[in-house]
Amino acid sequence: MSTASVNNMFTLYYQPKIDMQTKKTHAAEALIRLTRNGELISPNHFIPQAEKDGSIIEIDKWVLRRIPDDARKIFTKTFEEEIRISFNISASYFDKDGFYEDVISTLNHTKDFHSLFEIEITESALIGNKQNAIDTINRLREDGLRFALDDFGTGYASLKLFKELPLDTIKIDKLFVDGMVGDKKTNAIVDSIMYLAKKLDMKTVAEGVEQVEQVEQLANMNCDEIQGYFYSKPLRLDDFILFVNSVNNPPKKNRFIYWSNEYSSGLFAFDSHHIILINLMNTLYDVLQDENLRKESKTWKYIEIVGNFVSVHFESEEKYMVKYNYPKTKEHIMEHRKFVDDFQNLKSSLIARDERNFFILFDMLKEWFIQHELKADKELVHYVKNKF
Ligand code: C2E
Ligand code: CA
Ligand code: CA
Repeated sequence: MSTASVNNMFTLYYQPKIDMQTKKTHAAEALIRLTRNGELISPNHFIPQAEKDGSIIEIDKWVLRRIPDDARKIFTKTFEEEIRISFNISASYFDKDGFYEDVISTLNHTKDFHSLFEIEITESALIGNKQNAIDTINRLREDGLRFALDDFGTGYASLKLFKELPLDTIKIDKLFVDGMVGDKKTNAIVDSIMYLAKKLDMKTVAEGVEQVEQVEQLANMNCDEIQGYFYSKPLRLDDFILFVNSVNNPPKKNRFIYWSNEYSSGLFAFDSHHIILINLMNTLYDVLQDENLRKESKTWKYIEIVGNFVSVHFESEEKYMVKYNYPKTKEHIMEHRKFVDDFQNLKSSLIARDERNFFILFDMLKEWFIQHELKADKELVHYVKNKF
């Protein structure tokens, strides 16, 4: 594969990791995508083959070269908080002579930001010469980079690794996360890993989180960060930047709604969704206040982000209601539909430049939100909690 063709075919997507304390995004994982004939291909379809035929090293090198440019874009366009960026390195490249030098020379221009880069490796990177691997990690950590152990729980990962490896982060694999729901043993294992990681000053990230119950349990275990469709799929670079800015930096004044504990539903998972949704709405509200911005095409991106998040949120609530046979499921879903309709009307009024209607609709959404939080969501959580 020539470098030129490699350049044209690949892109990096960024999946936000949500910080459980702040409900903001302070980190993301870069994930490669292949475009072939206009079609986006998932790495599961080409990475295994690339690992077999050795072209994975070229792919990893491409990622490594791409990272500083993307990072610079992210760092200059997101403000206030720092964003850590992690990327995946295959065992074959990690073990190869010259890996250390490649990383250092490629990231040289972004030296000041080294602590914001994290390399994700799996235990297979340690199968070869373990001491060599430890030395490489140590050298790069001395240069300020961070290391994460990926897919923890899928291989033969033993607790011994914790002791031997100089790691900053441990990523609990989706298999474990999926096993947590309804399985006390898996739950206990994940809980112990979290506990141990904390004691050893490592950050904990749970991967592939999709369900309310998983978020609830992970929050109880004091997991640091959650990465999963429950909050966001991997996003294109520009969309990721917009997402981060919307979630992390809502306007200080002129807000649509202020979050208050009064709105708490009683479940961490829903509350964290609501807090993120409020931040997204606040940013959108601020953008739409400005007559000039209202006409910009970028504004539609903000609208899209809110729309996407709302569907993710409603979908997870609705699944939850159905699962627990909540008697008021139909009514609750009707309320969700009302929001979706009003939001759709807001978009139409924006297209029609119908200012009056536009502000009326915004007020309706606000009223809806307050009523829905104070009543419907609290009732739902109360019902499910009482069932146990
Ligand atoms: P990974 O490193 O474990 O990355 C996490 C994968 O889980 C990503 O798949 C991500 O999109 C997916 N994921 C995240 N949240 C959820 C969720 O809630 N549900 C489900 N079902 N999936 C979720 P993706 O992007 O398809 O990548 C698959 C694997 O390909 C990665 O697993 C990694 O091993 C490899 N890969 C991806 N990008 C690169 C790269 O740049 N270099 C190398 N060497 N490998 C890469
Ligand atoms: Ca990874
Ligand atoms: Ca993983």
